Amino acid sequence: ICWSVRGGWHRPRVSPYGPISLDPAAAVLHYGQEVFEGIKAYRHADGSIHTFRPDQNARRMQRSARRLALPELPVLYFVQSLRELIALDGDWVPSGEDQSLYLRPFMFAKEAFLGVRPAHKVAYYLIASPAGAYFKGGVQPVSIWLSEDYARAGRGGTGAAKTGGNYAASLLPQSEAYEHECDQVVFLDEKRNVEELGGMNIVFVYKDGTLVTPESPSILEGITRDSILQLARDRGHTVQGRAISLDEWREGVASGDITEVFACGTAAVVTPIGTLKGSDFIDQQPTGSLALELRQELTDIQYGRAEDRHNWLVRLDA
Ligand code: PMP
Repeated sequence: ICWSVRGGWHRPRVSPYGPISLDPAAAVLHYGQEVFEGIKAYRHADGSIHTFRPDQNARRMQRSARRLALPELPVLYFVQSLRELIALDGDWVPSGEDQSLYLRPFMFAKEAFLGVRPAHKVAYYLIASPAGAYFKGGVQPVSIWLSEDYARAGRGGTGAAKTGGNYAASLLPQSEAYEHECDQVVFLDEKRNVEELGGMNIVFVYKDGTLVTPESPSILEGITRDSILQLARDRGHTVQGRAISLDEWREGVASGDITEVFACGTAAVVTPIGTLKGSDFIDQQPTGSLALELRQELTDIQYGRAEDRHNWLVRLDA
């Protein structure tokens, strides 16, 4: 779907997958004016195809677009694009344990000019790719590297938007994590409060059953996190969105007040954190059962094995 400042959104078009042509002066190539989303389609046992809370992804994409001075795609068009892709060939959605079709909506400035200003010509695309199980052979706790040298976002920056630049900035710290034999990187803010991982939110479980997750205007508001926390509330857990410092985390683990730490996002759903590694320490993290129970509950809803009591699923093939 293309957008022009005068005409609004127009000309939705389905094309075979392939390269797209861009003017070398297209604004996205120079100024990174781009936003995207990640969402999955799941096949249920009866063959029907569903997606999960697409209105939330659509609204997040609108918030990201606003921050990047891009036009907002109406929620209806966003959901319609998912339906149209599935209507082309539903067989793209694999069946089987933890299999899904990963959907990648994205929007970028295609107008060609060299001055710095918001573009007047923008394109929205949707591509898709089958996704196998994130963990082969069962969920494994991940190890995370504490990035001390790099920040993911600053105050007033683009941290809350799903935009390519944030991920470009996290590539180097993520490589640092690999060099230290860690799976993921975790970022702190300037006050040494915990923010999030490179591509997942973080949640702490306390001894009294309270779940704490960083609340900050500079982290991505994960839809998995929101859903997992709702499921926890349904079970009677207290949920707090607040600042949590690295000291509170490490002291909480040392004293036994924190009983579990996990990360969550669309790709991996929920994964326990097994180790936190910094330049001069390695903290083993406590393991509990809540993260995996909530993961099971959420995937049961997504795959149609449990009642969708919050009406989170949207059927795409009917
Ligand atoms: N934080 C970041 C930086 C991410 O890239 C993601 C993945 N989209 C998340 C958190 C989790 O968001 P969601 O649960 O909506 O996938």
